[in-house]
Amino acid sequence: MKHRIGIVGAGILGLALAWRLQERFPEAVVTVFEKEKGPGQHQSGNNSGVLHCGLYYQPGSLKARLAVEGIRSMIAFCRQHDIPHEVCGKVVVASDDRERGFLEDLAGRGAANGLQGLTYLDSSALRRREPHVRAAAALLVPEEGIVDYRAVMETLVSLIRNRGGEVLYNSRVAGVSSTKSGETVLRTGSGKEFTLDLLVCCAGLQSDRLYRQCTGLKPPLKIIPFRGEYRMLRPEAEAMVNHLVYPVPDPLYPFLGVHFTRLVHGGREIGPNAVLALKREGYTKSSFSLPDTIDSLTYTGFRRFISKNLRFTAAEVASSLSGKAFLGKARKMIPELTLDQLVPGTAGVRAQALATDGTLVMDFRILRHDRQIHVLNAPSPGATASLAIASHIVDEYIN
Ligand SMILES: Cc1cc2nc3c(=O)[nH]c(=O)nc-3n(C[C@H](O)[C@H](O)[C@H](O)COP(=O)(O)OP(=O)(O)OC[C@H]3O[C@@H](n4cnc5c(N)ncnc54)[C@H](O)[C@@H]3O)c2cc1C
Repeated sequence: MKHRIGIVGAGILGLALAWRLQERFPEAVVTVFEKEKGPGQHQSGNNSGVLHCGLYYQPGSLKARLAVEGIRSMIAFCRQHDIPHEVCGKVVVASDDRERGFLEDLAGRGAANGLQGLTYLDSSALRRREPHVRAAAALLVPEEGIVDYRAVMETLVSLIRNRGGEVLYNSRVAGVSSTKSGETVLRTGSGKEFTLDLLVCCAGLQSDRLYRQCTGLKPPLKIIPFRGEYRMLRPEAEAMVNHLVYPVPDPLYPFLGVHFTRLVHGGREIGPNAVLALKREGYTKSSFSLPDTIDSLTYTGFRRFISKNLRFTAAEVASSLSGKAFLGKARKMIPELTLDQLVPGTAGVRAQALATDGTLVMDFRILRHDRQIHVLNAPSPGATASLAIASHIVDEYIN
């Protein structure tokens, strides 16, 4: 086992990995490098806070396996460390007969992935659980829930430090080089150098750039940022949603569709949509970065994606610019919802990998190159599955 391990990124994945590595190799010196001033400032701290199990994912895929293992490990971790969470279950709603077919496919996938307790709700059972929801068919997924991922990350940071590891904030990794004996020298933006035996990059929205920067190779995919915007239900309208209410997602996309989430600390969130963002780490409609925009526009895969998905792209942009278009997505499930019951909420940006042929990379993607491991694609349910992804990396890539 190598002794000095550096991890880039204090998102939930980098932290879960640091902790798992310390558990498996207690003698290793583990250092996490994070460019921001605290943990989880990007995807991991700006997501829906949902514990997903493996309902949606292709049976046999890494995502399906690690989602199912992941939700169980994450719930056990939350119980052990008193982290706010609740296994409240979720209802997936089909609005018409076409969606009913997709819902049946989803139930089949879920059963193949080993989910327990999947049940169709008849109209009176749905009314008892979610009185305001209208559905052609509704599937209850009882294993899913809600959690405070920021508290998960704070706990991981404490556990890592208690075991002698370091989590260094304001430490942007600016480059790496190799010594003659094969060690990796990591250099931060402030010019500090660290000699490592193994480097693992969990850089989320920057994963393809870190891959190029650290290996000198062209990444096999490109990260395209998709901003997800939320709205909140006004307090007086919160009673319209009791638990989690999701639409049947379009099977062509990895996004789950605008849904209703009861937040673990109270409040009801609606969203996220999935709008192509002009800045990788930009959280408002006006966020713009010229290098990020050029990076997306000059990528063949991006142009192919846009040309093949014009309708999807236009509908998502409309839901960003128009409150009515956003409301339309939510009203498919709760028709009595009105615009004045919604107020603007927060936003997150998804790191979604795109292949050169324009297809969205659905599965988790991890690559090893010499003494480096790169997590290139870890989209939803990456937070739920983070502990399981970390165990998988330790088992399969580190020896
Ligand atoms: C809107 C939205 C909703 C989602 N909802 C859910 C959900 O409900 N449930 C779920 O399971 N998943 C959800 N996800 C997915 C989940 O959030 C991600 O899969 C997960 O957070 C990925 O974690 P990460 O650590 O890989 O990435 P990140 O959290 O993005 O962390 C990467 C870190 O790397 C750091 N970094 C990058 N470059 C450098 C550098 N050069 N030097 C140092 N540090 C660097 C960044 O600053 C960042 O902190 C959602 C995602 C989004 C965006």
